[in-house]
Amino acid sequence: MANEVRVRFAPSPTGGLHLGGVRTVLYNYLFARQHGGKFILRVEDTDQNRFVAGAEQYIVDCLKWCGLEPDESPEKGGPFAPYRQSERKHLYYQYAQQLVDKGHAYYAFDTQDELEDMRSRLKNDDNHNPQYDYSTRMHMKNSLALSREETVALLNKNTPYVIRIKMPQNETVKFTDMIRGEISFDTTITDDKVLLKADGMPTYHLAVVVDDYLMQITHAFRGEEWLPSASVHLLLWEYLGWKDSMPQWAHLPLILKPDGHGKLSKRDGDRLGFPVFAMNWKDPKTGETIAGFRELGFLPEAFVNLLAVLGWNDGSEQEIYSMEELIQHFSISRVHKGGAKFDYEKAKWFNHQYIQQKNNEELAHLARPYIETYAEIHEPQYLVDVVGMIKDRCTLLSDFWAQGHFFFIAPASTDIAAIKEKWNDAKKQFFASWIPKLNSLPDWTHASIEASFNEEVQLQNIKKGEVMLPLRIMLVGGKYGPGVFEIAAMIGREETVQRISDTVAKL
Ligand code: GLU
Repeated sequence: MANEVRVRFAPSPTGGLHLGGVRTVLYNYLFARQHGGKFILRVEDTDQNRFVAGAEQYIVDCLKWCGLEPDESPEKGGPFAPYRQSERKHLYYQYAQQLVDKGHAYYAFDTQDELEDMRSRLKNDDNHNPQYDYSTRMHMKNSLALSREETVALLNKNTPYVIRIKMPQNETVKFTDMIRGEISFDTTITDDKVLLKADGMPTYHLAVVVDDYLMQITHAFRGEEWLPSASVHLLLWEYLGWKDSMPQWAHLPLILKPDGHGKLSKRDGDRLGFPVFAMNWKDPKTGETIAGFRELGFLPEAFVNLLAVLGWNDGSEQEIYSMEELIQHFSISRVHKGGAKFDYEKAKWFNHQYIQQKNNEELAHLARPYIETYAEIHEPQYLVDVVGMIKDRCTLLSDFWAQGHFFFIAPASTDIAAIKEKWNDAKKQFFASWIPKLNSLPDWTHASIEASFNEEVQLQNIKKGEVMLPLRIMLVGGKYGPGVFEIAAMIGREETVQRISDTVAKL
């Protein structure tokens, strides 16, 4: 048990799950699977002000969709339950108290106004952001600055307080990051972070250390944005006497905007026209829905694959990896240090590849909801056949409607103008004389329709190409789609004749 690899994804459920978050999950998952270890989902919901209804379930659903399910979680339980920090509230106080007793933390009674006052008083051109730290703490209302009696009196009066870490001055703390190598921090620059809040809840800093320890986490992979907090965490591991149990850390590179300038944010998705969240996220407060990869028609396998290679490669040229291959090839030390630019065109390329790999039955099942939004599907086999005919034209599952709507309903609009441009009596004559022949064709297959078409072309002495494009537009609505005789065969005699006649009547 002691040597078992245990990793965790520790999200704060405050909104949609960014693709960077899913990549963190993926790297954790791959590492756990590779080492025969456990992957844990721990919900870090200690900030009551940021509580968002439905956000935890949403994360659970995202992980399910991606096929990255945890071994232990609030939903599944496990030997270290509960896995929701709000339900572990009673555990943290003792550790904060231990730190106070050892002189590494202290009670701070300052009110919001007093904190504001300190900041505005000390703010100047050299110090834009005055901190609660070694330089200010002795001028504030806390158990280091007050006498023992004053502190006890405040505590006895139930004065609200927080517990802050006492960051040492001029010390260097360091650790070896699995991706970045040795990293050291000067403790002087970091403020005295709050560890325990006035409501008795721990902050992230205390809870993450206590829970990584209690849950016997061996490796902690998280986003690069957490690197500045590492010094506080290192000190806590040390002060709590757990240094030998500290997990190995890896700080994953940021996912950058397509132009490489800055972190990809959810707002960039809106602006640049691609999703940033794994699944649609409906903000319960604003009612706004932010688009997700799933609903847009990405396959989870493709999504996972494209995230795997966003910041990692195994040194080869390979781009398409099955989950099994990823588990085999992934290595945390080959994760890049620098940020990875997100390329939506490349993301779509992955999806296209995975769509081509799927068999038609499976694809029909996946494409069905995108079609059923607009049209009824009468025959399951019909859908399978359609999907087989158009899949090479589809990049997203939603494309199955855009590329195949005419198999299910007559085109909502037909590009009459494109036919009209070159319409003449000869063409009119061609269709007028071909329609009755279609009606009496003994069998209705693409070969027989094509043969009849060719015969009519000969008979009317017209060029095949001249009537082929109008026929396509009549059946499909525009200049696209698979073989036109295959389409006619699929939609049936009645529908084919109807669409031709209806269009001709408008010309
Ligand atoms: N709760 C933190 C977050 O929301 C977890 C960071 C960590 O993995 O330590 O990302």
